[in-house]
Amino acid sequence: MSPFRTVRGMRDFLPKEAEKMRYVEQVTRDLAQLYGYREVITPIVESYDLLAAKSGEEIRKRMYAFEDLGGRRVALRPEFTASIARLIATKMRNEPKPMRLFCVGSLYRYDEPQYGRFREFWQANYELIGSTKPEADAEILMLTYDLMEKLGLRNYWLKIGHVGIIRGILAQEDVKKEQQNMVMQLLDKKQWDEALTAARELGVSQRCVTTLKNVFKIRGKDVSQVLKKTEENVRDYESAVAAVENLREITELTRKSNAKFEMLVEAGFARGLEYYTGMIFEPYVPEMNIALSGGGRYDKLIELFGGEPTPAVGVAQGMDRLALAVKKQKFSPKIPEGKRVVIIPIGEKLRARVLELSLALRGVGIPVEVEVMGRTVSKALQDADRRNVTHAVIVGSEELKENKVVLRDMKKREQKTVKIRNLSQEILKT
Ligand code: AMP
Repeated sequence: MSPFRTVRGMRDFLPKEAEKMRYVEQVTRDLAQLYGYREVITPIVESYDLLAAKSGEEIRKRMYAFEDLGGRRVALRPEFTASIARLIATKMRNEPKPMRLFCVGSLYRYDEPQYGRFREFWQANYELIGSTKPEADAEILMLTYDLMEKLGLRNYWLKIGHVGIIRGILAQEDVKKEQQNMVMQLLDKKQWDEALTAARELGVSQRCVTTLKNVFKIRGKDVSQVLKKTEENVRDYESAVAAVENLREITELTRKSNAKFEMLVEAGFARGLEYYTGMIFEPYVPEMNIALSGGGRYDKLIELFGGEPTPAVGVAQGMDRLALAVKKQKFSPKIPEGKRVVIIPIGEKLRARVLELSLALRGVGIPVEVEVMGRTVSKALQDADRRNVTHAVIVGSEELKENKVVLRDMKKREQKTVKIRNLSQEILKT
């Protein structure tokens, strides 16, 4: 491996890409603020056991796990929820509920690199902790819808399901949690036939096989129709019926909120993480056949980590894929373009004066870059033209005698002499 290349699956973000990524991040931060989610910062390195406990086989085997120099078994976090659940079970145990928490950062999975799949990727995570109510699930869906809107995405839909449907059926057939997980993993990979075979091998009844077979096929955008059909098919399985009813309440509440997005309900939908207990969902855009984000309800995880029984629902917004979706839909994010000033001395003698002026301008919030290459004014202006600079301030000894400098509007290609004490106002007003 050449030491001068990024490690497979890892990326550098050059300024333009970094700007796009930070733009997505800023939108997720603003959204957190709007919905009352407060930020927490948790470490990238966590105990392997914490991260492995409920993440699911698929993620578990792809963790960057190692022993640290103190002999501790640790791993780079592959997701945020385990860390959040740890916080709620320990340091935030006594905080009043509900709690709305936000976190953003990089995660690590030894996935096979491909379009939209990297070994280091970014998520913005929102967790609503303490409520079992469908309005909490609805809030997470609405927040996701709002994010899509704020990023300017079009034609997106949310694929929605409820793990209680399949788990309810299997539980009533006495299939243990771990064995259910196997079936759910196969469903997550859309291997419906294999999932049926696995269920058969676990000794479920013929009635169960038929039910599962039917349920796996039920999907559609007419939500009430799909839920009705699912309910008819699972009517012999009490907790599966309750799951459908719960999904109906959540989707109806969301609809009534006026959040206008398409929902695709899939009765046999599963997601890789094992800790989900209720509604699950993923947003998609037509240009990409990978989920942009993923979320759902996990009512048992905090308890599993030694906390009080605490219901929770959350979503991990995949920032890399959201940035890709913005690009795919071929529009540039509206990154606000502010003033950008270069300040150029005519001759070395004025270097100190230029530095002094630059500090004063920055002091009132104007971004300034100083000419540090010792170039002539015309060369420095040529360079400024290439860099999307809005103004150039040219500092010459003649003008300085009258406490003035030359201010050039780079877009209009006009310049005038202005008093130094008026300089910042002049820059801000044009
Ligand atoms: P998950 O935790 O697997 O449900 O993932 C939630 C979201 O995180 C996905 O929808 C993706 O947007 C993002 N994500 C997960 N794994 C990767 C990866 N290897 N590369 C890029 N994004 C990822």
